[in-house]
Amino acid sequence: MVDEERIQAELARCKAEPLVREALERLEKELPGDLLYHSPNHTVDVLHDAMLYAIEDGLKSAERELLGIAAAFHDLGFIKQRKDNEVWAAQLASSMMDAAGRFSREQIELVSRMILDTRLVATSAGLRQLRTTPLSGYLLDADLSNLGRTDFFEKGELYRRELNMAPESFLKMAFDLLNSHEWHTAAARRLRQSMKEENIKRLRKLLENQISFERHSEERNANNDRLAFLAQVPLLLNASLEPREVMAVALEEVRRRLQAEAGTIFLCEPDSRELVFWALSGDGGGKLEGLRIPADRGVVGWVITHRQAAMVADVKSDPRFFSEVDRHAGFTTRNMLCAPLMVRGSECIGAVQALNRVDGEFTADDMRFLSNFAQHIALALDNARLHQLSRKQKEKLEILDRRKNDVIQMISHEFRTPLNVIQNCADLIVSGILNDPKALQSMGDTLQSGVNRLNRLVAAVRDVSLVSGEVLPLKIERVSIQQLVQPVVSGLAEAINKRNIVFEQCGTNSNEGLQTDVALVRVVLRNLLSNAIRFTKDGGKIGLQVELSPGYCTFCVWDCGIGIPAHEQATIFEKFYEVTPAKEHSSGEFEFRSCGLGLGLATSLHILKRLGTSLQLESKEGEGSKFIFRLPL
Ligand code: ADP
Repeated sequence: MVDEERIQAELARCKAEPLVREALERLEKELPGDLLYHSPNHTVDVLHDAMLYAIEDGLKSAERELLGIAAAFHDLGFIKQRKDNEVWAAQLASSMMDAAGRFSREQIELVSRMILDTRLVATSAGLRQLRTTPLSGYLLDADLSNLGRTDFFEKGELYRRELNMAPESFLKMAFDLLNSHEWHTAAARRLRQSMKEENIKRLRKLLENQISFERHSEERNANNDRLAFLAQVPLLLNASLEPREVMAVALEEVRRRLQAEAGTIFLCEPDSRELVFWALSGDGGGKLEGLRIPADRGVVGWVITHRQAAMVADVKSDPRFFSEVDRHAGFTTRNMLCAPLMVRGSECIGAVQALNRVDGEFTADDMRFLSNFAQHIALALDNARLHQLSRKQKEKLEILDRRKNDVIQMISHEFRTPLNVIQNCADLIVSGILNDPKALQSMGDTLQSGVNRLNRLVAAVRDVSLVSGEVLPLKIERVSIQQLVQPVVSGLAEAINKRNIVFEQCGTNSNEGLQTDVALVRVVLRNLLSNAIRFTKDGGKIGLQVELSPGYCTFCVWDCGIGIPAHEQATIFEKFYEVTPAKEHSSGEFEFRSCGLGLGLATSLHILKRLGTSLQLESKEGEGSKFIFRLPL
């Protein structure tokens, strides 16, 4: 097809012809305002399509010039009379061409005949335009171009109102015209025939349902409205980076533009086979907040699995429908549309639904609109979620950064105490004032405990390498539960006694065997038990419970201590993270609320993951905590 730029250039050339210019100016000034269809726009439109067909079929420039004049004048007669306006227009064109002095008699005659040919004549085959010259065909096809264009219904309604006809009789007349109409030129046949057939089908449907042109063109206008809306959607949705706000705005638009009683969005829960209900506009929304349904249930599940939109005219007869959601919301779904929310090509993050069209059923146009809109919603939502994620990560990094500074302070503080002790002892020895063997013995003990404390700190720092992400080598051995647990328990007995803590053991004497890395599991048990001791008041209760189930052995370290606030429960597994700031720690290794380097849980989780399992936490602030892990028998 010839490109639009070429047609526009030809149109400009044509409008520059003095006769054409004058005709167009007179139309602008003198056409009666009640000519809704035969307005100056119509003439420009005819001029455009006449040039399009002429260029498509390779007409010569001289022919195009005459065609342009005929097109410009063909409706000029309306400025004088409605009836036989073509006759007056033909006379006007002839006299003006004559006065211009550059046209031959034949050319003037040809233009006049072309204009007269635009009359609609009642024939035995219905209303027709009759062509008396080959060039007329281009003008006639351009004049009735909209029979084969998408604006047929819009223009039809303008024409009906111009003629002031009743919808039913106009509908019949238009249908007759469309059915008996034939294109005169090859170009129009090529470019307009298929849309004309489509218009015939639609018109037949209108006649069958006796819906007027007006209502149909209103629907078409609604579609145009929707298209204009879709073009602005990115601005609308990206105005907020809060996923909730994005969804609220989107759903309100879905509801309004599809005239639906309600709109909903379901999002796929990452790493799970569930869909979470997120938002609803319309009634019953509050009751559904956070509702989860299996990812493959309902029309929404089908849409997400097949990555395809769905239209359900009657939910009662659709086996995919999942009535559970209605039950929760106290809502009765009759019909629905559902479209997937797709991002990055093939990733589906959820689906959007429109429920119950207020005035009947949803149409194919509605479904197209929702599918297009869903693409915008998906992008905006994805954007908002990524933004939220990066904000959370930033907050986490800030916490960890603060924590790092705390750790540096804490390490220097912890090292300073034993170093001071050692320094003092060394000074005393060097001064030579200590010669009593008893005093020397006690000095030796003090030095020893200082060195032990330093060693413990160095070992804790060394633990960092365990959680630094390198692959941890495993040494798998066979061991009974008792052999595994007892050395850890005896290692902590002194601290438990000193703090008057009641320690309950259950199932720890079992001779049942495990195949595991004994040293690493002991590190985990020691970390968990020492936390239980440190975060439980003097005289409180802690315990270790080992339970056997087929193929597994479950370890639970529990305490009735201070517990962990819900909002801290995910973060405490991070390296160097502690709930209390370093400067508020009490000193000592097992004192109440004394803290280490914030590595115990991170190390334990890393070890358990390496052993193919994980660590669960159940805790309530002020009541106590339970740390649970499972190992295969
Ligand atoms: P640390 O060795 O410094 O205590 P952990 O990684 O073992 O580091 O623990 C991190 C933080 O988690 C602790 O500082 C404490 O705030 C919290 N925590 C761990 N276990 C318990 C528990 N049993 N009760 C209460 N809080 C605990």
